[in-house]
Amino acid sequence: MSELWIVNGRVIDPGQDIDEITNLVVADGKVEEVGAIQAPSYLPSEQIIDASGKVVCPGFVDLHVHLRQPGYEEKETILTGTLAAAAGGFTTVVAMPNTRPTIDTRADVEFVMETGRREGAVRVYTTGSVTKGQKSEELSELGEMAEAGAVAFTDDGHTITNAKLMRHALEYARMLGRPIAQHCEDPSLVAGGYMHEGRISALLGLRGNPSAAEETMVARDIALCRLTGGRVHFQHVSTAGTVRLIRAAKEEGLPVTAEVTPHHLTLTDDWVAGGKWVSPRILDRWGHIPTYPYDTNTRVAPPLRGEEDADALLEALRDGVFDAIATDHAPHTTVDKDCEYGLAASGISGLETAVGALMWLVHRGDLDLPTMVRYLTVEPARTFKLPAGTLRHGAPADITIVDPDLEWKVEPEGFFSKGKNTPLAGVTFRGKAVTTMVGGRVVYQAP
Ligand SMILES: [Zn+2]
Repeated sequence: MSELWIVNGRVIDPGQDIDEITNLVVADGKVEEVGAIQAPSYLPSEQIIDASGKVVCPGFVDLHVHLRQPGYEEKETILTGTLAAAAGGFTTVVAMPNTRPTIDTRADVEFVMETGRREGAVRVYTTGSVTKGQKSEELSELGEMAEAGAVAFTDDGHTITNAKLMRHALEYARMLGRPIAQHCEDPSLVAGGYMHEGRISALLGLRGNPSAAEETMVARDIALCRLTGGRVHFQHVSTAGTVRLIRAAKEEGLPVTAEVTPHHLTLTDDWVAGGKWVSPRILDRWGHIPTYPYDTNTRVAPPLRGEEDADALLEALRDGVFDAIATDHAPHTTVDKDCEYGLAASGISGLETAVGALMWLVHRGDLDLPTMVRYLTVEPARTFKLPAGTLRHGAPADITIVDPDLEWKVEPEGFFSKGKNTPLAGVTFRGKAVTTMVGGRVVYQAP
């Protein structure tokens, strides 16, 4: 029996209410025991990891990544995306279906799952698209994709605009026991807007995308959830108004869940203005903002919102309104971003900066570490019913060790991801995943 001991770390496993400095034993790729047992003296040193001063948790679970394969391998592949995941502390990722072709058949789902098993550095699950070709016209074969292993359905990147189709999708999803995950942006209200509609969009002369574009769609889907009993999962929630709607829907007992991204929790539309145009309050928070005015790396859908939105998202995360922190990792090539703001592709390469950004909130005292870990592990696993996010006896030894005090600088050139698109280039963070393990095997070790 091959054994590995992780000793003297602060083990945080929110699913079991564990938060203590103790040891963890891995045997044959599974979690054997968490507790203050002594490492046997005969154990060779390569079978002991000293985690003193570090945090040992279940491997992180990301419900929202764009791995871009098949079809956009110039942006990312399942291999490079999962290497980035491992480096960010994630051991399980859920791929979005807006590839080329769209993941909308059994064979497409099987391709992603199989490639993930063969080439992935971490565990790969996939969603299937709700409508064929993500065109919001005709439902995909949801049942067949569920059989093949799709864990949820979404037209992410697009919104299911047709309410009747959304109703039918929810009815099927209910029978299949899978959620419909919705990217909420009413295109008629987005109307080609590139950034949050507000003071700064007016200042910069950039076309705005109002909070109402998200909120009207969320309100509609809550009504459809009530009508059908089907589960709706709201992706990358970005506004204070959406938080109020979801809070009320949950209080009503409706089967809704929601995720929030590290970038919407930490960054605001000030970052689009960048540099010396940033408001003093934001500058006070960050000290220095590396972006410059019209930096296309700040373009993301939904857009970075106002400060009051970011504050409301953070408060909601602390209050348990959210079910998951998800990165919406959206890698793009330099060419996709090297153009004027309105023409740039939307998205941030987020897997490798997520923990740094979240730890920035922790060090500021805005988020406690066990809450951060909870929404990166047990809660997302529950939301999509994934066998992950726990250090229970017998669970696969998917483990992430975080050094909460390690200072490091965001250098996109060094990313494992092909997507170097981040507004955080040059920022120094404190806190990083230093060891990532899948099934007891180390898949990332910080240098
Ligand atoms: Zn999306």
